[in-house]
Amino acid sequence: MTTVATGLQGLMMDQPLLLSALLEHAARWHGNAPLVSRLPDASLGRGDWSHCARRAARLAGALQAVGVQPGERVATLAWNSTRHLELYFAIPGMGAVLHTVNPRLFPEQLRHILQHAGDRVVFLDPQLLGLAARLAPSLAGVRRWVVLCDAAELALAAAGLAAVEHPAEAAGQGDGVAALQGLQDYESFLAGHPETFAWPRLDEQAAASLCYTSGTTGLPKGVLYSQRSIVLHAMAISQPDAFCLSARDTVLPVVPMFHVNAWGLPHAAAMHGAALVLPGARLDADSLFALMDGEGVTVAAGVPTVWLAVLEAMRRVGRAPRALQRLVIGGAACPPMLADALGAEFGIQVLHAWGMTETSPVATVARARHATPADVAARVHESQGRPLFGVDLEVVDGDGRALAHDGASQGELLVRGAWVASAYFGETAQPGALRESWFATGDVAQLDAEGLVRITDRSKDVIKSGGEWISSIELENAALLHADVQEAAAIGLAHPRWGERPVLLVVARPGSAPDRADILACMATRMARWWLPDDVIFVSSLPHTATGKLSKLTLREQYRDYRFPEPGKS
Ligand code: ADP
Repeated sequence: MTTVATGLQGLMMDQPLLLSALLEHAARWHGNAPLVSRLPDASLGRGDWSHCARRAARLAGALQAVGVQPGERVATLAWNSTRHLELYFAIPGMGAVLHTVNPRLFPEQLRHILQHAGDRVVFLDPQLLGLAARLAPSLAGVRRWVVLCDAAELALAAAGLAAVEHPAEAAGQGDGVAALQGLQDYESFLAGHPETFAWPRLDEQAAASLCYTSGTTGLPKGVLYSQRSIVLHAMAISQPDAFCLSARDTVLPVVPMFHVNAWGLPHAAAMHGAALVLPGARLDADSLFALMDGEGVTVAAGVPTVWLAVLEAMRRVGRAPRALQRLVIGGAACPPMLADALGAEFGIQVLHAWGMTETSPVATVARARHATPADVAARVHESQGRPLFGVDLEVVDGDGRALAHDGASQGELLVRGAWVASAYFGETAQPGALRESWFATGDVAQLDAEGLVRITDRSKDVIKSGGEWISSIELENAALLHADVQEAAAIGLAHPRWGERPVLLVVARPGSAPDRADILACMATRMARWWLPDDVIFVSSLPHTATGKLSKLTLREQYRDYRFPEPGKS
């Protein structure tokens, strides 16, 4: 779209959309709204928006005092906590760039990301001190490591270096904290700085935060969000037909703050003065249930794997957490069985959202229109929903031609909008994924006349059998309809006759021993016979990515030499 010269300018104040304004608004008008944080020792820390704003001001002062410059990237390696929340607002508020880093990535990826971003200051959780100590020798650019705790806790952590957060940490403790330049605890870092800060009037297009894609294909790429894109995204996800957020909500982002700005929930909570509950590193179902129940959480958000486990916990307890009304489920397809069970057994509304790191991340949300006919409501339920205002979608064939919005034609999903990436950080070459004014998502989808988008698969996960496509998501959703299936993953494996055929990996519900033929019979009620997996393999667990999604890449590697038990069926 080209911009047309203005005939007449509007006469409205030019107020940039800034993260500091979100924090000031929350502190000024919703100062008492609670902020609760699960601390490393499992106790709960309590504060409110006013407290958070005062500490963020001290932090901004401290960052300025150590010479952090506008536009400079400042990294965090941390779980969800109120200290992390202070960093969320103080770093972009003073004009620097919050660079959230996923501590579950492999050390080589972490090194690459921290070097590529050029981070000089890293804030980290005390549990991650051991990991930092091993990374530090190859990160000469990092001049300052600030640990999110007080002096006594840092002394304890340094003495023990007892972190076991990362698989690689089992391999040894490296050089210890001596490798960490400028090591300091967070409370000492803040000490002496005033509780007010003159937040600068920044350009709303200035970079505010940086998040690298998880790099399931190739090296991770940096997505650089602007002040404006974050504020607009927070506004959009709060709408009634999206997550319907308000000052009456207590919001629990299970989605980590190192993953795409925790889906924008910290920013949206500040916008509305909602209460926030931040779960730290304890993300098992029983801990989450207890936290939601104890703190009166009304809305929580995370990937399907988390909610499948929480559903089991609710069934064991015989009820839902007392105030829970809605669950935002996204990051991977929400199995209809999960949404149905949460609704029918516990009266919880599921808001199924689709997006990616490059889309900030929320682009579509599934919420039925009021009084929709039952058949349409069911379609909404099984879809990823409609685009939010501010983003636009298209589905194209292999030659880039737009496909009909008939709910049947499927092709690659394109997206564009005010919070969609236009380029990757520090990449000089034109990113392959950017096609004209659209971002090509790599997802295969259908659009229908109601505006509903249905993600059939990721293009790299779709199973290509005899020239036809089988959706791995459909296979998994169908398998989950069997009462004894706890988790399922479908992958395409090389087949001598059909190119690829589907294989289903199943984790059985504890105490059950489902039968292969039974699972296939259950799935056969939902799909054509040639879609059915050629084999069902029972496993004790399935691999997940650093963000908690099923890792089909790992599975395909694990089963690379797999031989089918019999010639594939057509
Ligand atoms: P990664 O999964 O590699 O960590 P992202 O978090 O950016 O990176 O993931 C984005 C991808 O996740 C999308 O392209 C899509 O394939 C998948 N995804 C996200 N939400 C959904 C959803 N609701 N349904 C199906 N797939 C989804």
